[in-house]
Amino acid sequence: MQVATSRAPDAVSSTGSARQHRDRPEGEILVRFSGVQKTYDGDHLAVRGLDLEIRKGEFLTLLGPSGSGKTTTLMMLAGFEVPTHGEILLDGRPITDVPPHRRDIGMVFQNYALFPHMTVAENVAFPLSVRGLGKAEIRERVERALGMVQLDGFGRRRPAQLSGGQQQRVALARALVFDPRLVLMDEPLGALDKRLREHMQIEIKHIHATTGITVVYVTHDQGEALTMSDRIAVFNDGAIQQIDRPEALYERPATSFVANFLGENNMLHGMVEAVEGRFCTVRLDGGQRVRALAVRAETCARTSLSLRPERALLGDGMQTGTNGLMGTVSEVIYLGDHSRILVSIPGNPDFMVKLPASAGMPPPAAGEPAMVAFAPEDCRALDPA
Ligand code: ADP
Ligand code: MG
Repeated sequence: MQVATSRAPDAVSSTGSARQHRDRPEGEILVRFSGVQKTYDGDHLAVRGLDLEIRKGEFLTLLGPSGSGKTTTLMMLAGFEVPTHGEILLDGRPITDVPPHRRDIGMVFQNYALFPHMTVAENVAFPLSVRGLGKAEIRERVERALGMVQLDGFGRRRPAQLSGGQQQRVALARALVFDPRLVLMDEPLGALDKRLREHMQIEIKHIHATTGITVVYVTHDQGEALTMSDRIAVFNDGAIQQIDRPEALYERPATSFVANFLGENNMLHGMVEAVEGRFCTVRLDGGQRVRALAVRAETCARTSLSLRPERALLGDGMQTGTNGLMGTVSEVIYLGDHSRILVSIPGNPDFMVKLPASAGMPPPAAGEPAMVAFAPEDCRALDPA
């Protein structure tokens, strides 16, 4: 869903500068979603029972597949959609009755939404003009904002004279120029090519670091989320599956969905035979047995095991307590710094092992038998996928 181009994309505040909201201790809550639900048709829930706290100064990413409720969540925060249940608090106050232009929130969308008839400087000045700031201050602030996005000297051009990446920088400058207490970005880099997108990711991250502004960022691109975020909320089907720092989500996914959606992942399916303390024994559908961390495992219930490719080795020299699964190498892909070795094991025809070039081990050849080895601590027994 996109906001119409004719609507001023920046919320307009009559309360002036939001500087007073800065410089507070880390971890303070800026936004709280409490039991928020949203249905558009009275039947299907686009967002279900959402409890979410957004901390001041953090870069929080809402990550999930298309249709998982990310934009709806952002639109409720911006005030363009109303929750059908629950409450959203901004700085401790319910904002249900606060219109979008009073929420002091900057916004950036995928389709720029610049005013085509205005120059770049006029576009960036817009949120300041509607706030009634003086000419001199507007000029100074616009210059500073354009400098921040590396568009010094572009003020007199029109949007049509800029590349896609430059237009998106203008949108970014316009969202930041009035010093909002919160900036929302909905897939802002989705229309850019890969190289420019990666460049802009770093730039947005840099702006976040230098301004200390709170950012809520929406993307379906897990690499983008890992690169940019302080925390990531993984959405699926209108609900948050897990919210944590990138490395914690990657290393300790709590559900099969998170394990599969974020980063590369090997799955093995089977039945939990026994749970002993933190670990469990699982009989794989292919017949072999492995030990795994019992994250979501119950005796006699089905489970899916998650294992990151870089946590698996091609075993010789196996240590006691390691899992070993016999298979056959089906493919070897050379990628310079590492090789990807696909091993066909019973129950998983493309089990992936990453062999770093620095391991100094010659990669095996397709067709050779291989033993995939991994530690029980690196293998997570999760909900059946
Ligand atoms: P995302 O941004 O994660 O792709 P959305 O929040 O846009 O997800 O959509 C969540 C669900 O709500 C989807 O099932 C979508 O079809 C539905 N939806 C979104 N916007 C509208 C709308 N304006 N009217 C009706 N249904 C909508
Ligand atoms: Mg969306």
